[in-house]
Amino acid sequence: MENIEILKKWVDECNNIVFFGGAGVSTESGIPDFRSVDGLYNQQWSYPPETILSHTFFTENPEEYYRFQRAKLVIKDVKPNTAHLKLAELEQKGKLKAVITQNIDGLHQMAGSKEVLELHGSMLRAYCSKCGKTASVEKMNYGQGLPLCEYCGGIIRPDIVLYEEALDDNIVQKSISYIRKCEMLIIGGTSLNVYPAAGLINYYRGNKLVLINRSETPYDRYADLIIHANIGEVFSNL
Ligand code: ZN
Repeated sequence: MENIEILKKWVDECNNIVFFGGAGVSTESGIPDFRSVDGLYNQQWSYPPETILSHTFFTENPEEYYRFQRAKLVIKDVKPNTAHLKLAELEQKGKLKAVITQNIDGLHQMAGSKEVLELHGSMLRAYCSKCGKTASVEKMNYGQGLPLCEYCGGIIRPDIVLYEEALDDNIVQKSISYIRKCEMLIIGGTSLNVYPAAGLINYYRGNKLVLINRSETPYDRYADLIIHANIGEVFSNL
């Protein structure tokens, strides 16, 4: 594909690339996309996932929240795919400065990426909702019943941003700084409908905005290069 050749050329030339990724980066590792047609949001459950994954719901119905988290968000034996591995390789070569992700699965770190800005946190970290101490992820994700803090008995929670909760401002500011300064911004696997993705990319000042997504996005017209394909497939050609 001609566009992939252009992307390859740009990647070869640029030494200050930033990658911004969404759910589509992880779907090829077998992690369901929350918002795609066949994703979590269309599955049968007593409440919509947006409700279950909210701060209020977690506080009022922690048992049901955990039933959902363990059944739907904890996915065993996932491995990084071509896109994760290639991004880690580009960072190692000094070409890529940061990965900004909306995913909570830790796959970029598993692939070897060092500078990963997790806008929505990580399912691979847990802390006590009462005293704030770090807690066991094993107990949280694979235990029985409500996971409780060994120090104070409070309910353990994942270090993710639930609905109604604010993003970590430190991570947002760092992301803005990387996007502002980068030469090339590659956006992949996101339809850019989800806050704060759209807002963040407005900080980009360069002329190499690349959008890789299977379907069209509202931002296609702003892109300097658009590739409608699976992200893993594109990265396997770089
Ligand atoms: Zn505690």
